[in-house]
Amino acid sequence: MKRIAVVPGDGIGKEVIDAALEVLNTLNLPFKYEWGEAGDAVKEKIGVALPEETLQLCRESDAVLFGAVGETAADVIIKLRMELQTFANLRPAKSFKGVKALYDSVDIVIVRENTECLYKGLEFEVTEGVTESIRVITKEASERIARYAFELAKREGRKRVTALHKANVMRKTCALFRDVCRAVAKDYPEIQFNDYYIDAACMYMVMDPWRFDVIVTTNMFGDIVSDLAAGLVGGLGLAPSGNIGEENAIFEPVHGSAPDIAGKGIANPSAAILSATMMLKHFGYLNEAEKIEKALADTIAEGKTTPDLGGNLKTMGMVEEIQKRLKGEA
Ligand code: ATP
Repeated sequence: MKRIAVVPGDGIGKEVIDAALEVLNTLNLPFKYEWGEAGDAVKEKIGVALPEETLQLCRESDAVLFGAVGETAADVIIKLRMELQTFANLRPAKSFKGVKALYDSVDIVIVRENTECLYKGLEFEVTEGVTESIRVITKEASERIARYAFELAKREGRKRVTALHKANVMRKTCALFRDVCRAVAKDYPEIQFNDYYIDAACMYMVMDPWRFDVIVTTNMFGDIVSDLAAGLVGGLGLAPSGNIGEENAIFEPVHGSAPDIAGKGIANPSAAILSATMMLKHFGYLNEAEKIEKALADTIAEGKTTPDLGGNLKTMGMVEEIQKRLKGEA
């Protein structure tokens, strides 16, 4: 029995996590769900955004299924990723048939280092009008994430790993990251390797996304290019993610709490459902994950979607369509 900590959070976080659980419940999976509170609403209620009980629940779980939080993101999800030492943030960007997007055959996995870089929170006001932020890049964390990217490429039968950096400007931090990636690449001669400056890579991603297969990069760049990649294939409603560590894992949609549509029941549940299928794969339930992915892809291809993808269904309407396909009723 796997213990899943469910932390829906704020806004559409709750709506999309309910939807993902509905889909998971269609299959008979040996999961025990335990709920934890976190986010803006909890902070308002008790003064802390990530209560100790929730943190403890997440630590003890086999995986966390996380929704989204609003203003308290730095105190909740960034803290959770750091506390649980989930060092690899996986953000796949894959085209779906029937989705209006720039491209219809993109398939990229972004492997983002998740524990250091500018996200260390080392920010200071030196004096009035002068602020500083410290960017931490270590050999150990760079090597760990580079190896993770190559192992993922091997496991998924992917052909190339590309490291993104800006070593011509950040000659210490980015050069260390680049050099470590280059050294790790030598241990994987069967997988192609190259590296690009982050700015050039953004242009290539928009103009020629097929250059990329697995991308490995530092925390801040990874955050930015993963939204860019999500935009290439149809937006945030379709972008899932997994944060993987030695002991813990957190699965969450890339999108935030979307206050503009929260409470209307129209949030696209796909990113949360795909995050749940990443969790299934993490546990080795590959067939179940593929079944759900196929049902979701068929649902989208037939236009049975929420308004962000051009359809007229509500969140739970889309879930029902997915469930029909899972049960072979559509
Ligand atoms: P937060 O402060 O929590 O990050 P935000 O609105 O700044 O919230 P997102 O929540 O990521 O950032 O939303 C960005 C835009 O994408 C919003 O217009 C939102 O409505 C839309 N959006 C995000 N997720 C979804 C979704 N699952 N379904 C439909 N639209 C979405």
